[in-house]
Amino acid sequence: MARTFRGGVHPPDGKAATAGLAPQRIAPEAALVISLRQSMGAASAPLVAVGQKVLRGEPIGKPSGFVSAALHAPTSGTVKKLTTMNDPVTGGKVQAIELEPDGEDRWHDACNQPRAWRDMAPEAVRQAVADAGLVGLGGATFPTHVKLTPPKGTAVDTVILNGAECEPYLTCDHRLMLASPGEILEGLDVFMRATGAPRGVVAVEDNKPDAWRALRDAAADLKHVEVLALPVKYPQGAEKQLIKAVTGREVPSGGLPADAGVVVQNVATAYAAWEALAWQRPLTERTLTITGDAVSRPGNFSVRLGTSVPSLLERAGLDAEAVGKVIAGGPMMGLALATIDTYTIKGLSGLLCLKSPEMFAHGPCIRCGNCVDACPAGLVPSTLSLLGEAYEDTQLDALDAAMESGLMDCIECGSCAYACPAGRRIVHYVRFLKAERRKQLARERERKSQQQAAVSK
Ligand code: SF4
Ligand code: SF4
Repeated sequence: MARTFRGGVHPPDGKAATAGLAPQRIAPEAALVISLRQSMGAASAPLVAVGQKVLRGEPIGKPSGFVSAALHAPTSGTVKKLTTMNDPVTGGKVQAIELEPDGEDRWHDACNQPRAWRDMAPEAVRQAVADAGLVGLGGATFPTHVKLTPPKGTAVDTVILNGAECEPYLTCDHRLMLASPGEILEGLDVFMRATGAPRGVVAVEDNKPDAWRALRDAAADLKHVEVLALPVKYPQGAEKQLIKAVTGREVPSGGLPADAGVVVQNVATAYAAWEALAWQRPLTERTLTITGDAVSRPGNFSVRLGTSVPSLLERAGLDAEAVGKVIAGGPMMGLALATIDTYTIKGLSGLLCLKSPEMFAHGPCIRCGNCVDACPAGLVPSTLSLLGEAYEDTQLDALDAAMESGLMDCIECGSCAYACPAGRRIVHYVRFLKAERRKQLARERERKSQQQAAVSK
């Protein structure tokens, strides 16, 4: 069976500048500002008051629902303020907690203790994952315990660990796989126990042979675990495409990986799951890549949540005069920061600093079909971009046409935009149309609830 998926592209990977650099551990700074919105779903609710002393790993934010994540103090210190900060992904204001570290970096008594987690029942494992505030560290930030709880009636037989790191320029997962293959495989075991899946697969792209070898050697005695090297193709790490490449199964349109009997987790999330279960360490730190032609000291950095982005960029040697744009994540799926005046969050996997503000020139569609060949979701991206333009020009029925054209199946991978010789801003239009669709649904819900209220009067 060919271990691949339809479509996809081969952008220059830009990884050479940091692939050989082990992460530098950055000590907590004089002030940490910790966003309460660090996962998909609802923001966390603050659990601390101004002046309160906290220890590392102590809960400071509680989930506001099932699809939400707990938040923990990244170091010991005193809560200085309940404040707001710029969200590094959306640029909008979000609530945050400002913490003044005491320099002692002491763990809370309930943390950093070994635990015999293999004696725990699957439900207790899922609860421990939720209590540790784990979210998808590949950038999606979906709460991990939710993904480990498939809908009733679906049975998961395979957990895939995503070590593809197909996004150009990013190398933090590569370095983690090299440094901690055994811990990542323990995390895979946590996920297999939580879901009851009998089979585990770690999927690495074959441009990281050293990471593949490290994992394969660490898994030599594990009967139910396979370590695969997949051919390089973007977006190999997208969930549906990875499932297709590894198992040959298709996730149905609008469906979940669990509908194909699979749960996919990132390798960094697996490492965090090992820390959470084996050592009772909640998620308080992550590794990210800082790179691009506008920094002179690119590298991988392990930082506490709430670390100042300007200070990190300075550490990486940002040329403030030359930089045209800083992207949160990589060039394909990342979003340009509206401002660098922000702080690290669980989902921030990279900061790509580029001199040129635009990666592509924009022009009209020349109907070459390249985007159709590149689209791994089987869509007609040129049509979606034209419908986006039409909707912007107030042709309101364009949104219905976009829905019929599979708008919600787009995974926003950017392969189409990369392949487009006219530089069409296809992903921009897809995101715009999806946002408009969400607004449309909210209006419909509001209208229905008003109608129900009127009837029950
Ligand atoms: S239309 Fe969506 S899924 Fe298809 S290539 Fe473009 S961004 Fe990727
Ligand atoms: S690749 Fe660009 S120019 Fe070619 S059909 Fe698609 S949108 Fe049009």
